[in-house]
Amino acid sequence: MSNARPDQRTEARQDTRAEPYVRLERVTRKFGDFVAVDDVSLQIRRGEIFCLLGGSGCGKTTLLRMLAGFEQPTSGSIWIDGVDVTGLPPYERPVNMMFQSYALFPHMTVEQNVAFGLRQDRIPRAEIKERAGAMLELVRMREFAGRKPHQLSGGQRQRVALARSLVKRPKLLLLDEPLAALDKKLRQHTQFELINIQETLGVTFVVVTHDQEEAMTLASRIGVMNHGEIIQVGTPTDIYEYPNSRFVADFIGSVNLFEGRLVEDEPDYVRIASDELGGAFYISHGVSAAPGAVVWVALRPEKIQISREQPEGDGDNRIAGVVAEIAYLGDQSVYLVRLASGRQVRVTQPNIVRQGSAGRITWDEAVWLSWDATSPVVVTQ
Ligand code: ATP
Repeated sequence: MSNARPDQRTEARQDTRAEPYVRLERVTRKFGDFVAVDDVSLQIRRGEIFCLLGGSGCGKTTLLRMLAGFEQPTSGSIWIDGVDVTGLPPYERPVNMMFQSYALFPHMTVEQNVAFGLRQDRIPRAEIKERAGAMLELVRMREFAGRKPHQLSGGQRQRVALARSLVKRPKLLLLDEPLAALDKKLRQHTQFELINIQETLGVTFVVVTHDQEEAMTLASRIGVMNHGEIIQVGTPTDIYEYPNSRFVADFIGSVNLFEGRLVEDEPDYVRIASDELGGAFYISHGVSAAPGAVVWVALRPEKIQISREQPEGDGDNRIAGVVAEIAYLGDQSVYLVRLASGRQVRVTQPNIVRQGSAGRITWDEAVWLSWDATSPVVVTQ
């Protein structure tokens, strides 16, 4: 397994193969008056795992189907490996698509399922056997080659479907919610397998998912979609740490969003006064907004410290409150802290010390919340 973080993998890829492999230029797809995909321009690099992430109905499957050629754009163009494929049918594109339901042929064995596409292409029998065998080896299914799909678990069927979609060596593999049928543990395991397989073969993957954790694990880059538009494209770290909007901040992970007003605007810091907070944020990075402008501050729950004692130092980046709720989740605890403004703030703390130990912060206690000046992110839309 690769130990590289997704963003590190991206950097490595960026160095060597920076030219876009897939290019969408102002692609729009309408169904009647309804705009399912709205003026999307996007570049995907060779060898990436690119995740399209968004809520139900945001247009991600439609975008994927246009890449595959099952759907035509109403306007705009699609380029793969420097070729304009906009009008081309699916079978003339260097693309394969793995659908939401894996749709294995029930009457065929695992090996026959994997070999099916090669047989259709009239490839010599010995080569079919070798290539299907190698693919089954890659997805660790060789010992199940003689079984029928109904004799397999969901995860095993998923791996067979993956082998089948890779055996013809597509340059671009499109995966629509590939792990949706798996339970959480198997999903997590399979996510890492998928990364390994992709790295071994160097195929470019475009994965559609509504599961942000899955996108964070798999992707070298993520495109966050809403209402047919791509709202932000970036590495998992970019998207999580530097969301460009309230929508992205709120969609990825959980976040506390505070409305405020820019009261001091210097190149290396800003101060934002917020009635919702009942105080001010001092933030150690500049923002592009006019003084006095209404902005929003996004503060992740894990970046907030909770303590009984008032933090030392001056008055920004801290606020007093009362613990309204505590949820114990095993690895961490979630505190909902009510501020004097009436606003509740979500705080998470890792459970480093075993629960039940004396001295823990509990319900109705008066507490202080504080955070580092580097932690909040300001968004203007
Ligand atoms: P999900 O996660 O639920 O699969 P999605 O983001 O993949 O959602 P799409 O399948 O791309 O969403 O659909 C985007 C929008 O376009 C939806 O509102 C859907 O109802 C609409 N749509 C998709 N296909 C058609 C069609 N053939 N005719 C009319 N509307 C369609």
